[in-house]
Amino acid sequence: MFKRLFGKKPDRRTPSPEPPDLSRAGLTSLFGVGGVRETTNVVLTRMPTLVDTATRFGGVPGYLEATAWPRCPSCKDPMMFVGQVEMGPAQPLRYPRPAILYIFLCQSDPTAEPSCETWSPASGCAAVFAQEGVATTLRPPTEDFVDRARVAELVADAHARPDPARWELLDQRGHKDHHTTLFGQYACAFRSELSVCGQPIDGITRTQAHYAAMAALSKDRAMFIGGFPDWVQGPSSARCACGKAMESVLQFGAFDEALNLGDAGEAYVLACPDRCAPSSFALEWQSC
Ligand SMILES: [Zn+2]
Ligand SMILES: [Zn+2]
Repeated sequence: MFKRLFGKKPDRRTPSPEPPDLSRAGLTSLFGVGGVRETTNVVLTRMPTLVDTATRFGGVPGYLEATAWPRCPSCKDPMMFVGQVEMGPAQPLRYPRPAILYIFLCQSDPTAEPSCETWSPASGCAAVFAQEGVATTLRPPTEDFVDRARVAELVADAHARPDPARWELLDQRGHKDHHTTLFGQYACAFRSELSVCGQPIDGITRTQAHYAAMAALSKDRAMFIGGFPDWVQGPSSARCACGKAMESVLQFGAFDEALNLGDAGEAYVLACPDRCAPSSFALEWQSC
């Protein structure tokens, strides 16, 4: 916005670039057949009340089977519940059987000791796991630090006033209490789109047209499943317990103010390509 207000006026001597052709043919001509992939854009809508669908972000988790709230092995505190996503053979997030994926991340004060290396999939400071089964009834968590009424209040407030005033609210009520959940709660809609390979491709020299297409495609994408991950620092080197290199299956930025992913950070939910076990998931985040 500032750029538009205070930036230089367009130079009329140089013609403005053509808007990028985002059709499959247009993208394939730029990135090659192997450089274009389907992706599922997860469109998040902030909700005023707690919702109980199998796929959602924020609020409190709804489990298929009762489970203890994951705690960070480093600081020992309960991790923050980020969200849950339905998986299955026909779901955008692929899994051999119907299941729900749960995502928790330690969001302890980064200046506190011990400092938790929440960005590293090897640190254990994130818990990403599947529960198998069909989502008919979801069980709420039983831990007494999760006060559903207070979370509902927070969610309603985040919906009504989506601005930093909430930080003051948190301090008054106790930071720790509320940091087990996001500020808002989000319903999800899936939208099928195309993504392009952001890494250099052999034999293709990047031009302005490549960068314009990449920028246009990622403009309204806060979270997506599959496609080409958009690595901030470079591809993850995480491996599954079975030895296989993990792939990024879900990527998101800091879509909620409670999420700290560093400067323009992106989080990658990693999975074993074989989905060899309900535990064959991890999370890594990278920032500038
Ligand atoms: Zn921690
Ligand atoms: Zn594996």
